[in-house]
Amino acid sequence: MNTVSYKAYEQLAPATKAQPLVTVVIPFFNEAEVLATCHARVCMALSNLHQHCEILYIDDGSQDNSWSLVSQFSHPLHQVRCLRLSRNFGKEAAMSAGMTAASGRCVILLDADLQDPPEYIPEMVKAWEAGAQVVEMQRQERHGEGWLKRTTAHCFYRFMSHVSDHPITENVGDFRLMDQKVVAVINTLPERTRFMKGLLAWPGFTRTILSFDRDARLAGTTKWNYPKLIHLALEGITSFSTKPLRWATMAGLATSFITFVMAIVIFTKTLVWGDAVAGYPSTILIILFLGGIQLLSIGVLGEYVGRLFIESKQRPLYVLMDDAMQKPTFQSMET
Ligand code: UDP
Ligand code: MG
Repeated sequence: MNTVSYKAYEQLAPATKAQPLVTVVIPFFNEAEVLATCHARVCMALSNLHQHCEILYIDDGSQDNSWSLVSQFSHPLHQVRCLRLSRNFGKEAAMSAGMTAASGRCVILLDADLQDPPEYIPEMVKAWEAGAQVVEMQRQERHGEGWLKRTTAHCFYRFMSHVSDHPITENVGDFRLMDQKVVAVINTLPERTRFMKGLLAWPGFTRTILSFDRDARLAGTTKWNYPKLIHLALEGITSFSTKPLRWATMAGLATSFITFVMAIVIFTKTLVWGDAVAGYPSTILIILFLGGIQLLSIGVLGEYVGRLFIESKQRPLYVLMDDAMQKPTFQSMET
């Protein structure tokens, strides 16, 4: 942990007599319609644990009145804290901010829109107390999501578990419990491209999988759209695997081999039977085919070079808005 981040952490984590049993990290962006219900349901779920807990809201640059709502939330038994990012940095950065500031003995990531039912929290904590350091919540049913989203999500998970160098459990999103040890490891991962499903799976540790039915959104609309999801998928693939580079090499090798075989066939036909070279369409097809393979390979290479460029800038992942001082607090991710 470096000095900058430690100072920032001291500002964030108020001294408490007892370390909270669990920190529930809730990132949100323009969720004014659901926050009150979310808070009530999380508090109700935590009351079943009969221990001091922490609820940590991360405002990811909301433009509605979400912030004024959460900053009024409190609870007689549990510690309620709110962080505000200086703009919309994306859910991944908001979750990272929450995990860095969390002070509980374990951390649960939860969506504010109540698609991940807080009522599962006691069951997750029970699994953790039984020895699991990571409790992954696997979606069985996905209510309120169209077949296109379900199918593309399913294909993406299958594809990712195939290309990723580290196993990513299928149909497990961000909703999960992690021991503070696991969270500390994730907080040390410095990359700017935060493909959370990969980062959360990277440390390993002992795992338990629990099943749950994902509810429909309580209100409001999803913040995701297909261009964003394609971007996320590309980020996930290029930040967690170098296999596409290998595929580009293999495609190059395969086309070279096919070209070599074709050259022998054409030469033989011309020399032995005196056949003229078959004409225009095949030549054009071959040129286009090779051009396509070359552009694809350059594109794949470009994706990785782009990642290097972003990583080399070493910008902070998020900036905290310090309301009291009216100036942003820079928080390094190297904690
Ligand atoms: N979210 C966020 N920042 C963003 C987008 C989303 O903090 O830039 C939050 C959002 O408020 C919600 C959670 O991330 O609490 C999941 O977002 P959403 O429901 O839009 O995604 P989906 O469940 O459709 O995948
Ligand atoms: Mg949602």
